[in-house]
Amino acid sequence: MTPDADIPSLICELCRQFYDLGWVSGTGGGISIKGEAGIFMAPSGVQKERIAPADVFVLSGELSACSVVTAPANAALKVSECQPLFFNAFRTRGAGAVLHSHSVWAVLAARLFSPRGEPSEFVTSGLEMQKGLRGKGCFDTVRIPIIANTAREAQLTESMAAAMETHPDVDAVLVAGHGVYVWGDTWVKAKTQAECLDYLFRATVELHRLGLAGDPS
Ligand SMILES: [Zn+2]
Repeated sequence: MTPDADIPSLICELCRQFYDLGWVSGTGGGISIKGEAGIFMAPSGVQKERIAPADVFVLSGELSACSVVTAPANAALKVSECQPLFFNAFRTRGAGAVLHSHSVWAVLAARLFSPRGEPSEFVTSGLEMQKGLRGKGCFDTVRIPIIANTAREAQLTESMAAAMETHPDVDAVLVAGHGVYVWGDTWVKAKTQAECLDYLFRATVELHRLGLAGDPS
């Protein structure tokens, strides 16, 4: 496990990388990582590529409730609205890290399989990068649940939990018109899976654009 002392700067570094990928632009998205002291999480509504280690919250990892263990000195900073969604994966999947991306490829991939933003599934098969997903091979069919978006991020909590229950073989949930949540046992696995999924989203969208894919099923 990454030492607690290193996690805040790691979150800042990862947020800068995710910003460069277009995953956390416009203050959206982010990553949270489990440490000894609790769940380390970037603040809400701030430019994610500019946060400093001192801006990172530490939240209680207790199963029953969520409370702030350590707050940044800057009182203007608020806990992320994604917090209950991140905790879905920490609590029910034993995740070590959870990432939220507003990648345009995630949005387009969800739109392809959910034209009206309704609950659905993203489906892909036959791509080498599927091997980066837990338990998947390149010839498997990968099905990622898509849930409908809501006006407030926290309102996604229950539908995300339900989608996780019906898709225990994958570590991601797409949100129509919004982005994707991805998790893993460690921050390395969460990042790897998020990168592979973003590749699969992009490849699938481009295959359809080029007329090289069958109908979504
Ligand atoms: Zn979001």
